[in-house]
Amino acid sequence: MFLQNNEIRDLLNQVADLLEIRDDNPFRVRAYREAARVIEQMTEPVASLVKANKDLSQYRGIGRDLAAKIREIVETGGLEQLRRLRQELPVSLLDLMQVPSLGPKKTAQLYKHLGVASLEDLERAARRGQIADLSGFGEKSQQHIIESLGRVKKSGEKRLLWSDAAVHARALEEYLMDIEGVRRVRVAGSFRRGEETVGDLDVLVTCGRDREKDVMEAFVSFEGVKNILSHGKTKSSVILRPGLQVDLRIVAQVSYGAALHYFTGSRAHNIAVRKLAQDKGYKINEYGVYQGEKRVAGKTEKEVYASVGLTYIPPELRENMGEIQAAADNRLPALLKRSDIRGDLHCHTRRTDGHGSLEEMAHGAIAMGYQYLAVTEHSQKVAMAGGLNEKQVLQYMKKIDAINEKFSGFRLLKGMEVDILADGRLDLADSVLAQLDLVVCSVHYQQRMDEKKQTERIIRAMDNPYCHILGHPTARLINTRDPMEIDLEKIILAAKDRGVILELNAQPDRLDLPSSYCKMAAESGVRIAVSTDAHSVENLELMENGIAAARRGWLTRNDVVNTRSLSELLRLLRRP
Ligand SMILES: [Zn+2]
Ligand SMILES: [Zn+2]
Repeated sequence: MFLQNNEIRDLLNQVADLLEIRDDNPFRVRAYREAARVIEQMTEPVASLVKANKDLSQYRGIGRDLAAKIREIVETGGLEQLRRLRQELPVSLLDLMQVPSLGPKKTAQLYKHLGVASLEDLERAARRGQIADLSGFGEKSQQHIIESLGRVKKSGEKRLLWSDAAVHARALEEYLMDIEGVRRVRVAGSFRRGEETVGDLDVLVTCGRDREKDVMEAFVSFEGVKNILSHGKTKSSVILRPGLQVDLRIVAQVSYGAALHYFTGSRAHNIAVRKLAQDKGYKINEYGVYQGEKRVAGKTEKEVYASVGLTYIPPELRENMGEIQAAADNRLPALLKRSDIRGDLHCHTRRTDGHGSLEEMAHGAIAMGYQYLAVTEHSQKVAMAGGLNEKQVLQYMKKIDAINEKFSGFRLLKGMEVDILADGRLDLADSVLAQLDLVVCSVHYQQRMDEKKQTERIIRAMDNPYCHILGHPTARLINTRDPMEIDLEKIILAAKDRGVILELNAQPDRLDLPSSYCKMAAESGVRIAVSTDAHSVENLELMENGIAAARRGWLTRNDVVNTRSLSELLRLLRRP
């Protein structure tokens, strides 16, 4: 059994959660969380490191004790300690933490005082009003729990974040490509369209006819497979360990393009394309484009589109949201590419809640091929992360100046991620903000206000002449926290009037601004910053996530500010 890094991460986090619920030593809890975080950010599979007998305690954040636990996980697929904790505490307690406002501490309280051990118990206690009386909860949080429960239940079978699905998709692709006789492997479906979350993987393979049986055999014995749903000649289905279903189909070379188009979807897009074909007297299915009995196209996707008079449509746009007309008129946008990106405009260092030093982050950015990286620490309001006050900001700026002396052709931009206070004022004095290269303004507190008040709060923040970028505008966390109640159309127009840039935050569970609003913003003439919000050097690579989301939002190089050279960017940052 070969565990992926994110699976090991999840196991370590489960231990941390259960230890914390049990009110165990906080240092021990932190050791597990820290190790989970380090593993999440490793680019190499931990399982390979263990198998090569590498000493994991060499990684900062992994102590001796945790290195041994990780080895145990890799070698046995589990952890004795986790098994013991699960016997001691009801496993269903972990479900409670799907409710966004419930962390281990509150879960422990509910369990101890009200005997709440499952989502059903939680709902009952909330409806009876028992939670409001518990210290640290109150009427409002009880109401919030009831509202969240609806969503938790709805999302019952959880879809994986795109980036988590990508780990499995890549491992599987690599494995299949290594099988003798395999020519092409392609993951289609919502994964290929770059959707925020992925429910299952549709894999297409081409290979020599005589190899089909062996390919299917190899697929169902992939080490990530938990159970086999079906095992056929040209189609098999399995469930991978995180509960992800994978359907693999072997397709003929001549049908490859038609099959790829068919299984990539979306449904709405495919229906619209089939309709065009009908109008021309063709029929399109997963095997090809047909005129009567004769196959006229289907070897490549490009051929399929050409047969109905369209230019090739990138998968991220296939939602029947105007892409077909745009392709017919030959005016599809030239979507943002990795090579367009010149820098990153949002990151944290060890000074607040990041994990790299200024120098390490700078070298990381240089290795990405960037001309600039904006360091945007938290402001004082975020006390938990050690946010900076005015005096500390000025000191930190000096430190950045000193480091910049060492570089030519690269610059750390002096920035801050300033909190937007409840009334829309910013968390730092204008006199200090005026000295920074760049200011990202974000909401981290009081995310639940009514729509009118919340929208006014954000627009007031944008009124400040030093607000350059609105950070993670909706504050949603995919699968765990709803977006704030805000009037995004109004905010987009306000950003346009004030020359404020909107952020597309590339953290896998944020992807905020959501793609559909990226499109709306760009159409209104608002510029977007695709930023990683990196908290470590490895995190800088999340840019890939951001680009996938930007492409779904139809964004081009021109719409995105961090495609500009340093001098152009600095000119852009001067507010009118
Ligand atoms: Zn933030
Ligand atoms: Zn941030």
